[in-house]
Amino acid sequence: MKRANKSPEQQAVLVKAVRDFLEQKVYPLEPRFGREGFAAIEPELEALRAELRERGLWAPQVPENLGGMGLSFLDHARLSREMGKSPLGHYVFGCPAPDSGNVELLLEFGNDEQKRLFLEPLARGEVRSCFSMTEPDRAGSNPAWMETTARLEDGEWVIDGRKWFTTSADGAAFAIVMAVTDPDASTYARASMILVPTNTPGFIHDRLISVMGHTGSGWASHSEIVYENCRVPEANLLGPRGGGFLLAQSRLGPGRIHHAMRWCGIAERAFELMCKRAVEREVAPGRPLGTRQAVQHFIAECRAKIDAAVLLVENAARRIDADGAAAARTEIACVKFFVADVLTEVLDRAIQVHGALGVTDDTPLAAFYRHERAAHIYDGPDEVHKSAVARWILRGYGLELSSQSK
Ligand SMILES: Cc1cc2nc3c(=O)[nH]c(=O)nc-3n(C[C@H](O)[C@H](O)[C@H](O)COP(=O)(O)OP(=O)(O)OC[C@H]3O[C@@H](n4cnc5c(N)ncnc54)[C@H](O)[C@@H]3O)c2cc1C
Repeated sequence: MKRANKSPEQQAVLVKAVRDFLEQKVYPLEPRFGREGFAAIEPELEALRAELRERGLWAPQVPENLGGMGLSFLDHARLSREMGKSPLGHYVFGCPAPDSGNVELLLEFGNDEQKRLFLEPLARGEVRSCFSMTEPDRAGSNPAWMETTARLEDGEWVIDGRKWFTTSADGAAFAIVMAVTDPDASTYARASMILVPTNTPGFIHDRLISVMGHTGSGWASHSEIVYENCRVPEANLLGPRGGGFLLAQSRLGPGRIHHAMRWCGIAERAFELMCKRAVEREVAPGRPLGTRQAVQHFIAECRAKIDAAVLLVENAARRIDADGAAAARTEIACVKFFVADVLTEVLDRAIQVHGALGVTDDTPLAAFYRHERAAHIYDGPDEVHKSAVARWILRGYGLELSSQSK
């Protein structure tokens, strides 16, 4: 469903409301989040989420009849850029990954009962969810080659397999699991998505994965999950049988933009911190870092790259609003690798300008750097997106290339 954009004045009011809320109530929680982890500050975060629901600043991408703001992709992109300035921003405003992508899947493909049982509590922020597709023993960049299976037995799906990097599984109410249901079908018609409540016997939370020295907890963590004779009703199939890849494309397309919008916000925060440091830190009496040409060049180059990234994201968002995610696949893929590059470069420069302070946890830079190195990997490695873009472009010139799954 197409959604109208807000006027520039309305957008400015919303952006300011998000910025003020972050600066006044969320930034102060960041040091404890860094030191003690998500679980330690969850009660404070829940109070902030309740306040935002009250104020109508909840879940920008969720339709209004489900309690969200019902914004267009472009308006969401602009708010998301503000929210991304804090690692907690998207969580408090009710649009964190992986829930945001799961909400979109359930909205588009859920039946009435699935919407009532899974979508509505998720959209209201009463429960969390996770998305379980990648496997430790198979290349995630080629998900068509998957080991996890689900077979129908006495009206139930019986799921067996091992998944990892199931983000936010710790404490989630349900998972959307991708499994092979039709092994004899053609490559992209073999797998389906199935809704699995995490309290189902056979859903085994094997471990929290330590990432760059941090294990995390709750929403801010990644898990390895074993599905062992895990049985759920046949009615838990999401979308058509064999439609797993269709659904995955529909989820991951806009999901990549969600990440890229957030990355622009992170880059902007890192840029702000870098500029402040360049002014405050003196390398000699009366000679702040910003007087040095190398630092000036960092600042100019980062500004240009962030602006380019924002324009690219907004261009893709506009295209999704106008023509849908499928038509915008080239724009989306370009955004994925280009903005990931800008993000990690700006973070690196900002850390460099902070010197030793940059690698401490006294600023959010080190945590951003640790977490966002993965921007080049998750939702498909950069290389896969670059090859796909080239394939689609070269097709227009008469050269047919096969995808990496062949
Ligand atoms: C922080 C984080 C969160 C994640 N969250 C989730 C989640 O919630 N749910 C979920 O299911 N998965 C999740 N993932 C998994 C993620 O989607 C996969 O890591 C990703 O698809 C890559 O798969 P892989 O790790 O198996 O790498 P591989 O497929 O083994 O690829 C390894 C490397 O090989 C190179 N490569 C691969 N294919 C090609 C190619 N065609 N051409 C050139 N080079 C190539 C790339 O450099 C790539 O990084 C997450 C991953 C991370 C790091």
